[in-house]
Amino acid sequence: MKNNTVILGGGISGLVSAFYAQNANQNVYIYEASDRLGGLISTTQTEYGIVESAANGFILTSEIQNLLHKLNLKPISAKKESRRRYFYSNRKITQFPLSFCDLFRAVFGFLFLNSKLRVNETFLQWSSRIFGINTALKIIEPAIGGIYGAKLDQLDTRMLFSKLDWSKNQSFFRRYLTKKNKKKNLGLVSFENGMVSVIQALESAISPKAVIYLNRKAPNLSDLLNEYESPALHICLPLNECYSYLREIVDQIQIPNFLNISTITCFVQERITKKPGFGILFPKGERMNASGVLLNSDIFPHRIIKENLWSETWIFISDPQTIRSDEELLDLLMQDRRRIVAAAMPPVQSYVTHWHRKFPVYDKALYEFNRKLDQLEVDYFDRGIKIIFKGNYRRGIGLRNLIEMATR
Ligand SMILES: Cc1cc2nc3c(=O)[nH]c(=O)nc-3n(C[C@H](O)[C@H](O)[C@H](O)COP(=O)(O)OP(=O)(O)OC[C@H]3O[C@@H](n4cnc5c(N)ncnc54)[C@H](O)[C@@H]3O)c2cc1C
Repeated sequence: MKNNTVILGGGISGLVSAFYAQNANQNVYIYEASDRLGGLISTTQTEYGIVESAANGFILTSEIQNLLHKLNLKPISAKKESRRRYFYSNRKITQFPLSFCDLFRAVFGFLFLNSKLRVNETFLQWSSRIFGINTALKIIEPAIGGIYGAKLDQLDTRMLFSKLDWSKNQSFFRRYLTKKNKKKNLGLVSFENGMVSVIQALESAISPKAVIYLNRKAPNLSDLLNEYESPALHICLPLNECYSYLREIVDQIQIPNFLNISTITCFVQERITKKPGFGILFPKGERMNASGVLLNSDIFPHRIIKENLWSETWIFISDPQTIRSDEELLDLLMQDRRRIVAAAMPPVQSYVTHWHRKFPVYDKALYEFNRKLDQLEVDYFDRGIKIIFKGNYRRGIGLRNLIEMATR
């Protein structure tokens, strides 16, 4: 007899989970609240080129390569020139914002200083102690803050490096060498027609056999357990929905913190860097409005259709109370572009995407929330019920982590 796997949420976490469950010969049921699969990920083909709503690429590992092979998907690799990463420092674009002394201090700390966390040490304090304050503020803050959206003193080091063992007294270098489940990074990839290709391929692979309920919110847990005989339940909801779902079954669960993210993908007539590159990160001290900009047409081929245009994605992160209109954001974007290139022209076309309260803050509250989820998984397992929580609030925001987690 086949077992039942019930998946709540049809984003990439849910779809990859569904694919593996089906390959393991399970009956698969997906509940998706919206009218389409893919969640945050979607691609729009515009008359200027591709516009992604969230991820525009992901890190390939042998495990993900295997999945793409099964899905008959051929990824495209990032262009060589996108290895160049830029920082905005002292009103200039530079690849290396540190002095020789800062670099020496950072390498020394990385190799030799004890990186074990101290009691109540914030990520800002920890990274300044290990790498030096200049590296923390000029490199780590824009790089990590740009990905996770929060200020360094909000972030929780254990959440950011959840695969590292934090129990031992050792340097960060040693800790990194002994990382659990270390997978080789095979480079950044995407697809010729954008990230939607992976969603479409997963959908076509699972839809002949899986039962997919669109426009259906996840039923509550007791109804699910009544309806399906001993199901494996994969909760692949966004953090805000996962929290609401849990409130029905757990008392006293602390509300995690969320962020708003808005992006503007625009097609522009002039480059903002002299040479091609991946993008520019803006440290908070530089007083730019955006957290950073991705130079899409320098990263992957096939990103623009019209000649003499470039594609950029500007990322704006704010707390959940700050809601900005499209016009306000476009105005902020132009202010930033003109700080970099004084004579910058307005974009030929721009596309704004807002994600309100969809992004987790990787802080202490999220660490505690995850511990609660881990405990719930164990408690339910002891009662003979398999429940697994998956999503970008568990072990990292990027698709690499999500896809690897979804294979569980
Ligand atoms: C602007 C931006 C840029 C990004 N760039 C990158 C990148 O370059 N590389 C990278 O690796 N990652 C990137 N990410 C992260 C990555 O895109 C996301 O973490 C990932 O897509 C999340 O997938 P998910 O399936 O876990 O969640 P989601 O995509 O949020 O899917 C959850 C699904 O659950 C559904 N749902 C919600 N409530 C209910 C309910 N009550 N019942 C049933 N269903 C429900 C939703 O409709 C949705 O379909 C980016 C994210 C953003 C926002």
